[in-house]
Amino acid sequence: MGNAVASKLFDLAGKKIFVAGDRGMVGGAITRALAARGITAMVASRAELDLERQEQVEAWFSAHRPQVVFLAAAHVGGIHANNIFPRDFLYKNLMIEANVIDAAHRAGVEKLLFLGSSCIYPKFADQPIREEALLEGALEPTNEWYAIAKIAGIKLAQSYRRQFNADFISLMPTNLYGRGDNYHPEHSHVIAALMRRFHEAKLVQAQEVVVWGTGTPRREFLFVEDLAEAALHVIEHYSDALHLNCGTGEDISIGELAALVAQVVGYKGKLAFDTTKPDGTPRKLLDVSRLHALGWRAKTPLREGLSAAYADFLAGGGRNR
Ligand code: GDP
Repeated sequence: MGNAVASKLFDLAGKKIFVAGDRGMVGGAITRALAARGITAMVASRAELDLERQEQVEAWFSAHRPQVVFLAAAHVGGIHANNIFPRDFLYKNLMIEANVIDAAHRAGVEKLLFLGSSCIYPKFADQPIREEALLEGALEPTNEWYAIAKIAGIKLAQSYRRQFNADFISLMPTNLYGRGDNYHPEHSHVIAALMRRFHEAKLVQAQEVVVWGTGTPRREFLFVEDLAEAALHVIEHYSDALHLNCGTGEDISIGELAALVAQVVGYKGKLAFDTTKPDGTPRKLLDVSRLHALGWRAKTPLREGLSAAYADFLAGGGRNR
């Protein structure tokens, strides 16, 4: 049954752990996963530490001396936000990762995990996408600003490994959803956007809800609590230059996803596809065999994860509610 779990190379127990970006969806989930193991992560609010400012990051690391860093801080957003705020997606992410990775090295951090995204891969990469597809072709233009920054982050982590033997690794999750998501009507990712739109449509008994694009693109969706488990697993079981993919190994069309989100929310009206909105890349399914070989698999089925995400939405969770 399944794969044998790889042997542990590094133990998080007893370490001083900094989660950069704990206010975000990913950093929040990692902080909770650590807490479930009895570990209280070190965190820093934006007011206390602006990760875009090098002098602040260096001062924070020399004062607090973490031994492990989860670099989950990033400027993120959906297909539309990427298109209209290119400078923010490129500059902010470059600064955050350069500042944190270099300060971690200077402060003697023992292990660092850099989190990226599956949009680093070429627009027309062979599916499912293997880690080796990186830089084999042109990027999807709607999110190339973010992708270029995340590719630079992977390379930066690799460069410290090569030049200083630093144990810095990278994990590339597929599209994420769950607790703490951003529900902005336009700047969010597809699941949060649809959940909110269907919810509001249900309340006013609207006849029709608009879904962007043709409904035919295929995407893979990972529940953020599963990603957090993967992050803890790889930091303890992996040490190499190559970045690792993280996903469920299954994808679904946007049309099918929309129908599923409508069901979970209890919206019974029609769906209309607005084809003036961009589809983005046609398909984005990760090959997760490397992570499976390390003994980790996603646990949460999509419908179950969507129900949990909707419960969190109803409870007032997430940003831009
Ligand atoms: P992507 O994976 O980088 O393209 O991220 P998104 O989550 O923003 O979009 C995924 C797919 O869902 C794209 O094909 C979008 O056109 C489609 N989509 C459908 N409705 C929406 C919506 O309301 N918001 C967003 N962000 N995407 C939508």
